[in-house]
Amino acid sequence: MIMQKLKSATVKLVFLLFLPALTLHAQKKISKRQIKEIKKEIIQEVEDRHKNTQVMIDKVFSFAELGFQEYESSAYLTSILETAGFSIERGISGIPTAWMARWDHGEGPVIALGSDVDCIPKASQYPGVAYHKPMVEGAPGHGEGHNSGIPVIVTAALALQEQMKKNDLGGSLVVWPGIAEELVASKAWYVRDGYFEKIDICIFTHVSSNLSVSYGQARGTGLISVEYTFDGEAAHSAGSPWRGRSALDAAELMNVGWNYKREHLHPLKRSHSIFTDAGDQPNVVPSKASIWYYFRDITYDGIMKMYNDGNNIARGAALMTDTKVTSKVLGTAWPRHFNKVIAETMDLNIQKVGLPSWSEADQQLAKAVQKEVNSKNEKGLATALSGIGKPQKNPVSGGSDDIGDISWTIPTVTLRFPSNIPGLQGHHWSNAIAMATPIAHKGATAGAKVVATTVIDFLTKPELLKSAKDYFKNVQSKDKEYKPMITEKDPPPIYLNEGIMKQYRPQLEKFYFDETKYDTYLEQLNIQYPTLK
Ligand SMILES: [Zn+2]
Repeated sequence: MIMQKLKSATVKLVFLLFLPALTLHAQKKISKRQIKEIKKEIIQEVEDRHKNTQVMIDKVFSFAELGFQEYESSAYLTSILETAGFSIERGISGIPTAWMARWDHGEGPVIALGSDVDCIPKASQYPGVAYHKPMVEGAPGHGEGHNSGIPVIVTAALALQEQMKKNDLGGSLVVWPGIAEELVASKAWYVRDGYFEKIDICIFTHVSSNLSVSYGQARGTGLISVEYTFDGEAAHSAGSPWRGRSALDAAELMNVGWNYKREHLHPLKRSHSIFTDAGDQPNVVPSKASIWYYFRDITYDGIMKMYNDGNNIARGAALMTDTKVTSKVLGTAWPRHFNKVIAETMDLNIQKVGLPSWSEADQQLAKAVQKEVNSKNEKGLATALSGIGKPQKNPVSGGSDDIGDISWTIPTVTLRFPSNIPGLQGHHWSNAIAMATPIAHKGATAGAKVVATTVIDFLTKPELLKSAKDYFKNVQSKDKEYKPMITEKDPPPIYLNEGIMKQYRPQLEKFYFDETKYDTYLEQLNIQYPTLK
């Protein structure tokens, strides 16, 4: 017994003696010169993978999958990561197309690398053609450019694996997709379900028309997405209309009520709606009707106030029509706040990497598309870096991204990379034109270089990670606390877009990119680059 105690004490002593050495090893000091050398090599590594990046971008473009229906895209991208030794957890947060891929390489920071993957309804478009030419009329298409995001991340992750192995850099890489970003309907669920609890920082990427990063409160809004469903009573619309109670009347009255409200909203707020069920045919009094809102504002409190006002107007409409109303939260996004330390570190790498060099053909396409959609910007692709985005002095309204929820959970930034044409209206076929062309390919390679070099900084400089966490805790979260907009019970609305994809997938399948037969998607589609009017 005594002997055993002694033994265990010796073990403890030996362990304690070696502990400082172990810690030293985990945070092994690497000289500035070595870091510079590693970064140089990783930039070359990403460049060498340009062909693979191009194939991934073209492939995901060709799948053209809407939110929650990213089956082909997810199967394809996870298979690449799995082959590279990542372990994949599929179906996270109860979302069949969601996943998290992880690769561990000893002790060190756990770094999440993410981007979105879904596309836009009715944005089908031939790439490289400078006017509206749908591949499949009415079908979804990458009219935002999310097809380029995960390829940026995967390219960076694969290059990082090589350098981490070669230089014995400890750390873990976690690659993950923003599923159904257009519905802002996955990231708050990932946060709720604890997927970001043990991760140190997150580097997120989003397609743009320049290479940039920002910190502080971002431009744009957060939102809550709510569908109101009214329940009435059917009747013969001509035979006995007095016996019916129209759910559609209620939905229309809610719409009228909200439109009166609109006059009294602060200009920074945004709201929009569509009818998702407006009855079946005119001779049946609609017993069911639904209207779906996005309520946006620049603060959490403002969003929740709009939500509350929406609920009141819905109740009023139900009272007026003697119907019943229920509601469902279909998505949420917190207003984004990005980490200053990661952003400033990343910006130095952005300046090193710089913008891609565009060819004459790239610029011709860009200028022709800008002209086609009457853009104020007719200068083509960006040729000068836009610089780091500083916190807004006066908040600016606009779009949302559920990366906001992650940015309030762990230190996060969004790298915007130059794979698209500036000056387009967004969520539109014109935003798909560049997305399977050399513009998208070069922009993604530039983005991957920035991601990879920034991760190298965080793997080799422990003090950076410490100050990023310090900013998150003591500046960003000083007097603001993240409160989820979804409850423990809200399920992710994974049924959304199912019908649309069922309708279009068979036609889209004929256009899937076959990289075994063709060099590029443009070649497969037999498109002269650029095709101008
Ligand atoms: Zn997006």
